[in-house]
Amino acid sequence: MITEKHLKRFREVRTPFYFYDMDLLERTIEIVKKESARYGFNVHYAIKANANPVILKRIVSLGFGSDCVSGNEILRSLECGFPGHKIAFAGVGKSDNEILTGLKSDIFSFNVESLPELEVIDQLAGKEKKVARVALRINPNVEAFTHKYITTGIEESKFGINMWDLQPIIDFLGSAKNISLTGLHFHIGSQVKRFTPFKALCIKINEIQEWFNNRNIFPGHINVGGGLGIDYENPDVLPDFSGYFSLFDELLELRKGQQVHFELGRSLVGQAGSLITKVLYIKNGLQSDFVIVDAGMTDLIRPALYQAYHKIENLTSINTENSRYNIVGPICESTDSFGKFIELPETQRGDLLAIRSAGAYGEVMISNYNLRDKPGLVYSDKI
Ligand SMILES: *Cc1c(COP(=O)(O)O)cnc(C)c1O
Repeated sequence: MITEKHLKRFREVRTPFYFYDMDLLERTIEIVKKESARYGFNVHYAIKANANPVILKRIVSLGFGSDCVSGNEILRSLECGFPGHKIAFAGVGKSDNEILTGLKSDIFSFNVESLPELEVIDQLAGKEKKVARVALRINPNVEAFTHKYITTGIEESKFGINMWDLQPIIDFLGSAKNISLTGLHFHIGSQVKRFTPFKALCIKINEIQEWFNNRNIFPGHINVGGGLGIDYENPDVLPDFSGYFSLFDELLELRKGQQVHFELGRSLVGQAGSLITKVLYIKNGLQSDFVIVDAGMTDLIRPALYQAYHKIENLTSINTENSRYNIVGPICESTDSFGKFIELPETQRGDLLAIRSAGAYGEVMISNYNLRDKPGLVYSDKI
């Protein structure tokens, strides 16, 4: 919640900046902790959603692990207090250096996406005199019904191993000395708003487990990935974590002692962040006027990158009349727009706008294109 007290500070600091509602973050991660603990599930925070150390330290304090997609994310996790044995490492293109970082940190699992990657991990682990814990990332061919740029679990995707490619991998694992197969990993995509794809995933996982068991392979853990979506239309509403975890409890057919792991990114941090920006100019347009703000795609790229919707609010207008506006940034790109035909109270130069639900895939994707300054950071508990 943005209160009068926050607004007073907002008027004093340089715009644009990310505002983090630390109470909301706390509330979110506490719900996730409670709802996952009900079933003994393990949650890893996917730090690519937001790698801000202040946020990470808050999340680690509840005992979550981390999910990383680069060597630097592993290092950031360790710096912020995530223990190595709770770090999962995914990604189709792990470099030798990144694999070494993982080996040296004795991470929980390398989520492996191809046979050549498995061979390199085996070699490097041998050199380091370690046994790498590996989970195979299997492509379950489940349609996530999300934007095509963030779907990952279908057969033509670059991510994961297709079922028909598994046999040579199993053969290799039989002889690999420096690898221990500890789990199966899945991730169907991001911003999955309905539960149906997760139900389909559970059914696929059950079939895939059978396939492994029939070959006398009994993976110790199942990692179902992340992807739980948030409601961008209603930034004050949190995802249905209770229904989400109970679905997996109900549908997954687990073997004795088998652990379940989750990798949630967006749903933990998305609603806790807003990008606050100041209106620079109002410019006449044909169908609706342009509101030109001082934040651009360099501060929040989601609308330009995946046509994403973010709710926009005018925090300072005292007008009761509404108008429709095209809200655009200052960057020299036509995609540098935060929304078309957006209804706002009559808006003028100097107004502060909040671009809501920007806690995930916001600050982490900042660029300095146009040699732009970085946006600032304001935390609710420091006001
Ligand atoms: C991005 C990613 C996640 C997190 O996705 P969210 O949609 O942010 O929950 C989890 N696992 C893997 C492997 C990922 O690449």
